[in-house]
Amino acid sequence: MISDSMDGNIGSGPRTGDSARTERRARPPSGGIAEMLRRVNEALVCMYGAKQLTPNWDPVGEMIHIILTQNTSDVNSDRTYAALRHAYASWEDVAAASPSEIADLIRIGGLADIKAGRIVDVLARLEADYGHISLEALCDMNDDEAFDYLTSLPGVGPKTAACVLLFAMGRPVFPVDTHVHRVANRIGLVDTKQPAATQAELAPAVPDDIVYQLHMNMVEHGRLTCRALRPECECCALSGGCAWAKTRAVGEDATKSCASELSGACYVAEGHEQA
Ligand code: SF4
Repeated sequence: MISDSMDGNIGSGPRTGDSARTERRARPPSGGIAEMLRRVNEALVCMYGAKQLTPNWDPVGEMIHIILTQNTSDVNSDRTYAALRHAYASWEDVAAASPSEIADLIRIGGLADIKAGRIVDVLARLEADYGHISLEALCDMNDDEAFDYLTSLPGVGPKTAACVLLFAMGRPVFPVDTHVHRVANRIGLVDTKQPAATQAELAPAVPDDIVYQLHMNMVEHGRLTCRALRPECECCALSGGCAWAKTRAVGEDATKSCASELSGACYVAEGHEQA
């Protein structure tokens, strides 16, 4: 089994990867956007409930798990991660394995050869930097230093770095995946083309105390309601203040009723004022 050290446990949480590097704290939180984000957070809590973070204290495992989530379902990434955990006694053993051997273990998750190469590369880099495979050094870094180190690792982009810091270590670093990116752009919080650009712009503005909850609920919102195709704006607590919904005249030509139990307290009206 993989060791029970901080880096040896098997983590969990949302995952995917990207490659662009960015600064977590490009600018201090602005009052206007921070207040807007709090209102969005309140509305999403009404829709999806409060979320409480319990860090898994396994940054290496979290990072490997995120690599395995790329272009596959949560179920398949969990299965490939479990297969990896079962097959090797330590991360050092994984690093010493041939990429083809690892690829055979994780093939069900797709992109197996690419993912296997990334896993071996990132583990080898940790071993070269610290003499063993660990991310304990992050504990002595502030959030920006830790983010910069993680994004310097091969194949680790800003979302992966933020997920490692947030889910494994409880650091208030806001990850942006495709769901968060889509929701943030539709609401009008940002006007960006790529998740990495959204993260660079949005992450510094998210108040520390809502980072986890807002991330989780924006992901859920993107999966369940603000879907890429046919978003259910009629059922959305954000529709009154949503820039994208306005362009679709949501509410004026709505032909269906919403079966959800959104209360008036959930609704964020035009100008992001609560009704
Ligand atoms: S109103 Fe529609 S587009 Fe806007 S956030 Fe809600 S579901 Fe998404």
